This record gives sequence, structure tokens and C-alpha cells, in this order.
Amino acid sequence: MSDALEVLNPATGETVATVPAATRDDVDAAVTRATAAQRTWAAAAPADRARLLRRFAAAVDAHTEELARLEVLEAGHTIGNARWEAANVRDLLDYAAGGVERLTGRQIPVPGGIDVTFLEPLGVIGVIAPWNFPMPIAAWGIAPALAAGNAVILKPAETTPLTALRLAELALEAGLPEHLLQVLPGRGDTAGDALVEHPDVAKIVFTGSTRTGKQVMAKCADRVKPVTLELGGKSPNIVFADADIEAAAAAAPMSFLDNTGQDCCARTRILVQRTVHDRFLDLLAPLVEGVVVGDPADEKTQMGPLISQAQLDRVRSYVTDDLTAVRGIAPDGPGFWYPPTLVTGADPTAPVAVEEVFGPVAVVLPFDDEADAVRLANATEYGLSGSLWTRDVGRALRVSRAVAAGNLSVNSHSSVRYWTPFGGYKQSGLGRELGPDALTAFTETKNVFISTEA
Ligand code: NDP
Repeated sequence: MSDALEVLNPATGETVATVPAATRDDVDAAVTRATAAQRTWAAAAPADRARLLRRFAAAVDAHTEELARLEVLEAGHTIGNARWEAANVRDLLDYAAGGVERLTGRQIPVPGGIDVTFLEPLGVIGVIAPWNFPMPIAAWGIAPALAAGNAVILKPAETTPLTALRLAELALEAGLPEHLLQVLPGRGDTAGDALVEHPDVAKIVFTGSTRTGKQVMAKCADRVKPVTLELGGKSPNIVFADADIEAAAAAAPMSFLDNTGQDCCARTRILVQRTVHDRFLDLLAPLVEGVVVGDPADEKTQMGPLISQAQLDRVRSYVTDDLTAVRGIAPDGPGFWYPPTLVTGADPTAPVAVEEVFGPVAVVLPFDDEADAVRLANATEYGLSGSLWTRDVGRALRVSRAVAAGNLSVNSHSSVRYWTPFGGYKQSGLGRELGPDALTAFTETKNVFISTEA
């Protein structure tokens, strides 16, 4: 270890921990250990693997409050959200454990014999996680990868390594074999890159920016290494005139302010049919102004700080002085605070309207009719999520099918549920995570033909 990561409390800017950063040599050693652990794990009876994963889930369950407090400390998440996130890790592990004994191949009718397929583990999986949801996003990779018989090396974001390190300890306490799940905090261009380049890492699961995701994908292409990418988003929230406008307005603030807008599914482009635009804005503006921003450990807080000074600078750069904006309030003083912000009257092609800001900022844009709404919704390089509000079932289905995004939600703002597949169209990503097929993404299909004519 040659370097150290300084972990800051985003609400105060104070250092809360210093963690050694993994080097390329550390990654090499971890891969060697993981390779051995994976062979033993894959050879264990499925029922035993499932039981150990359930024990891991139970250990997480017993420590949800501790994990949640760590998340508040290093990521500035509100305590309510952080508790949900820790519980989500438990649920992801339980759900994946249920798949271990159901990971079946097929028997396919062929002439001259019997044909069967086996779903075999890939080996060592590298999970590169971001800082916006450090625990759940890490677990989206860890839980199904382990369940399918793989070992995992997790590189958390350098700003948020603490919950990941604690999860690895809990895995060991629960009885998972040593070195099966290893956490290597480190820098992306060192530890992350070493995982991507390592010949014995069989697959990379990456969540983060589209820019870095493209670099990871290019390096994986060199080695024909499978990669799952969960990247950026600029998701629309389409409000038609026939919708329950009060309900749509009431739901809109937290659809882009939750997690201080640092959410790849944040509904940051609010598209409103022109005939109800002003009424909708009159309802929405006071709600945005009234959002409670402050100490994330306070149960009443709805929105905490941004993750870092760099993120604060990035968000500020998008809300330029020439824009008209409705602003909520945010604390003064230390920490990385930015108020809830609603930009109105912006050019639909302005950077704030098409690029991922990753902060508590949304634009409100009018549209004329259904075709115009779909055109605007699709006028971005991203395609991760989206919502639409209407009382017309036919329109709900037509528009859901017409918007080029992986996760659509009607009269609600749901995106990520561990039961259902999640992933992006266009430059929002590649592949799907979660849902009933999550384990399959961590297997190779092997086909075996057995002749009955010999
Ligand atoms: P990055 O994409 O750079 O970081 C995501 C993860 O990738 C981190 O663990 C990072 O490590 C790692 N990483 C960075 N460079 C490499 C590399 N060359 N090889 C392998 N891994 C690497 O995002 P940022 O943290 O820089 O955030 C910038 C923007 O990205 C945000 O403003 C937001 O728009 C978007 N973003 C989107 C996310 C999403 O959920 N889709 C999540 C996070 C960010 P390290 O922490 O050391 O940099």
C-alpha cells in the first residue's frame, strides 16, 4: 500500500477516516487469492452456498443501523435513506440466495442424443462501484455474482470505502470463505484500472459516469472481457394535461431531489403539457422551496449535502446566472451544500437541460402534444429511466413504449426494485442488473451433447 484515501464527512467537510489505497500489486495478490477461493466455493453444494448467503443477509440485517450511520457519515445520505439502503443489501442477498438452488440449465431436444446446458460461474468478478449509492450498487453485483458461484473483488469509490469494508467483515463473520469477497479501496485509475486489465478477472461490473464507462468498455474489448455498465441519465418526467396534476406536482420534488439529485434515475427534465404548465409550476415551486435541507442524521431532513467540493463545483457550473430558477434553501458554512433548484424557461438544448448534472437541479420544459413529448423525452444521449403522468391507459402504454429508456414508471417514480431488471438504453449503459435473470449475467452457458448412438 503506497497511498491513502481521505474520507470526508460531506455535511461538515471534516476528515472522518483515512484508508490505505490499493496498488496494482495489491490487486494482483487479491486476484490470486480470489481465484483459489472461487474454486472451493463453486464446488460447494448449492444448498450450502445458499445457506451462507442467507447468513450474510442476516448479519447485514443485524447491523443495518451501524451501516446506515456509516453511510450518513461518509456519503451524507439522510438517515432514512441510509437505513433503506442497508436493508436493501440484506434483501439483495436474500433474493440472490433464493436463486442458488434454482440456477438450472436446459435439456434441449436434438436428434441422435441428449443435449444439456450448464450455467457455469465465470470466476473472479471485478465490481467497480460509485459513491452515490455505495452499498446498494455494490450489492447489485456482489449478491448475484456470489450466488452464481463466483468470487468478487469490489473497488468502492475513493470517497466512500467505509460501508464496503464493513460489509466484507460481515461476510466473514457470517461464515463466507476467506477471500471470496474482497474489498480493495483505491483510486479508479490504479486499483480500478488494474481490475479491468487483469487477465484473471473474468467480468467487470461498472457503475459510474458514461465517460469512465467508455474507457472501461474499451479496455474490456481488448480482452473480450464481458462488462456490465450502469452509466448516466437525464430522465424525463412527462406530465400530460389529463393527469392528476396535484399528485404529479406533489411527487415531482423528491423525484429529482432524493439523494441530493445524485441519482442516475433522477427525473431532472420535467416535461409539462403547455396547457397545464403554469398551473403545474404554481403547485411545484412552493414544494421545492419548502424541502427540508440540513443535517442528514436528523430524522426530519429530506435532503443532505452533495458528496464533495468537486461535485458542488460541477453543479454550480450548470446553473449559470442567465437562467431563471426557483431555489430552496441550504445551510451556509462548511460542507458541500447546494439548494433544491428548478430551472424554468431554459433552452431545451442548453447543457443544464441535456447533460447529467448529478445534483438537486431540474429543468421544467413545456410540450405541445404526445408526439412532442416523446420527441423531447428522447432528445438526449441517455436512456435510463422516465416517468409519465396520465389518466389515459392507452397513452400510458404508447408513451412507455416510445420513450427509449430501460425503466419507465406510470403515475409514480419507481426505477430500481431488486425483483425487476434494471439498466439503460443508449449511452446509459449495457446489460441488465437485478431481477429474475441477475444470476445468469454471472455465468457462461456451456452446451453438452451426449450421443445415444455410440
Ligand atoms: P467515475 O465514473 O469516474 O467513478 C465511478 C467509479 O469508477 C469509481 O469507483 C471510480 O474510482 C472508478 N474509476 C474512475 N476511473 C477509473 C478507471 N480509469 N478505471 C476503472 N475505474 C475507474 O465518476 P465520478 O466519481 O468522477 O463522478 C463524475 C460524474 O459521473 C458524476 O457527476 C455523475 O454525473 C456521474 N456518475 C454517475 C453515477 C451513476 O450512478 N450512473 C455514479 C457516479 C457518478 P474513484 O472513486 O477513485 O474515482
